[in-house]
Amino acid sequence: MRNRPPPRRPGPRRRPQGPRPVRPDAVGGGVAVAIPEGPRPPVELPAALTVKELSERLDVSAPNIIRELLQNGIIASINQTIDYETAAIVASDLGIEVHEQSVEDVSQVLDQTEDSPEDLAPRPPVVTVMGHVDHGKTSLLDAIRKTRVTAGEAGGITQHIGAYQVEVNDQRVTFLDTPGHEAFTAMRARGASVTDIAILVIAADDGVMPQTREAANHAKAAGVPIIVALNKIDRPDANPDRIKQQLTELGMVVEDYGGDVVTVPVSARTGEGIDTLLEMVLFVAEMGNYKANPHRSGVGTVIEAKLDKARGPVATILVEKGTVHVGDVAIAGSYAGRIKALFNDKGKRIRQAEPSMPAEVLGLDGVPGAGDRFQVVADEKTARALAQATRRSAEAQAASGAREASIEAIMEGIRTGALKDLNLVLKADVRGSLEALSSSIQTLAEHEQVSREIRTRIIHGDTGNVTESDVMLAAAAKGLVIAFNVRVEPGARKAAETQGVDIRSYNVIYHLTEDIEKLLSGMLEPEYHEVIQGEVEIRQVFKIGRTHAAAGCIVTSGTIPRNAQIRVFRGGVQLFQGRLESLRRFKDDVREVATGYECGISVEGFIDFKEGDVLQAFTREVVT
Ligand code: GDP
Ligand code: MG
Repeated sequence: MRNRPPPRRPGPRRRPQGPRPVRPDAVGGGVAVAIPEGPRPPVELPAALTVKELSERLDVSAPNIIRELLQNGIIASINQTIDYETAAIVASDLGIEVHEQSVEDVSQVLDQTEDSPEDLAPRPPVVTVMGHVDHGKTSLLDAIRKTRVTAGEAGGITQHIGAYQVEVNDQRVTFLDTPGHEAFTAMRARGASVTDIAILVIAADDGVMPQTREAANHAKAAGVPIIVALNKIDRPDANPDRIKQQLTELGMVVEDYGGDVVTVPVSARTGEGIDTLLEMVLFVAEMGNYKANPHRSGVGTVIEAKLDKARGPVATILVEKGTVHVGDVAIAGSYAGRIKALFNDKGKRIRQAEPSMPAEVLGLDGVPGAGDRFQVVADEKTARALAQATRRSAEAQAASGAREASIEAIMEGIRTGALKDLNLVLKADVRGSLEALSSSIQTLAEHEQVSREIRTRIIHGDTGNVTESDVMLAAAAKGLVIAFNVRVEPGARKAAETQGVDIRSYNVIYHLTEDIEKLLSGMLEPEYHEVIQGEVEIRQVFKIGRTHAAAGCIVTSGTIPRNAQIRVFRGGVQLFQGRLESLRRFKDDVREVATGYECGISVEGFIDFKEGDVLQAFTREVVT
């Protein structure tokens, strides 16, 4: 309790550190007034804040701040959020020194309190399936899911997201459908160790292969227990004993040979051994005694994320601790938002997600990357500030990041002879094209190798979209990603940017081999790719005569640059694509407009705007 009554007429509000200075004559007089200070220490400002907050932090009245903003051509209300740059301009106009809160400072906002043991409750184990390509990882995950689908869940077999939960003897187990140990490692590299148990799949008719070794090493490095599934035992040429021997050579001594490595013979095709495998998972999980505190704000990891035309950014997260609720405000990597909806692995709407539960999250203002941190925060203000700070640090990292896997760098390596291997990660739509591609590349490589001392190696080949793990693998091998008739997932794009990896897309084999030939001769041009810059929503349409129209918009995410291309969406459907013709704020042409601001946009060749339409702005940039 204070022993002085509050001042009757408070002076300007200050927030002095430490004890409040009082005038000597005020002591005992009952009135405490802040005395003017000497030079003020710089004021710390977050990456984004409202005008009101800025006024409080700078100790300048809100109308004065608003006036300063106006003089800089920015019309803002008291509750409007402005970014650090804008705030800094206002501050410097007012003669106040400011600096931006560093990411570390901002991250202190995060709830990092340790959970006390009595708050911890058992949670389902999280299992990742790893192994060599074609040994049956996907089939095994399918088989597990199918044996666990109850009659009530008819139609629930279709997988909606890259993770699912099944019940085994009344206990839940979470399976992560990562495309491989690369993703696992990429996530680990980002500090996300989401897996408790690894299932190492080895085809009993094939044996230990390079990726089997890699996967085993990745799991060992992460310190997670490994259960070996000897798959395809239905095959007549299956030879489990041979594999057990190979495992011993790998330093993994199986139980039959007196070691502690558990092996379970299974067939993803017939379902044989699947139950035993699951029991083994439960057994290992029991020893692991996995726990988390469900009664705190949710924390998790982004497993995968995409931009859905109708629903916007959709992130699949795995909750690690706490509970995530619809309506919570969260950050995911460098994006933020209020959670509009949550869906479980069966595509069913849920209200909340508890530890070890995978869930789809709607409401983020952008597409985060796999392995990004997901965290519920106090409010949208904090979320935005955190997201922006994360983005800045990611950008700084990208700017200084290694560019070793760019086309230029690879060609430089080829020209100078420093590069001995051209490492390729191949992703194709179907197995047939994958095989065709591999063999043409191999043929070409053998042909080229005569004249050049470069080996072309396919370090990873698989069907499916280009994922972040493909990019991470290419990055690690200083190689290229080749996408044949498949999409590049947003997370992969982002990873490619930060890691400096080239992704080249093809739909004609001949074009691909031609490019590789050019690459080997050091003559390949860089490829352009698309970068989504931001989105606006149309609030009002202005017809200008018969031939022109401008859309009065509000920027809902990102930034709209003057040089952008625009896609017009209505109800999630694309109507048009063309060049941004003019970008204005209050009759002035501007270079760019940031989130939260209004602007006027016209698009070359399109005038049929409607209120509610969404305009997406993107640019084309060289893949470097
Ligand atoms: P992944 O690359 O490890 O995900 O392997 P897939 O699950 O895609 O399987 C590769 C191929 O092996 C596919 O053609 C599957 O049908 C086949 N396969 C997977 N498991 C089994 C099995 O238990 N028995 C047999 N006979 N074939 C299998
Ligand atoms: Mg697979």
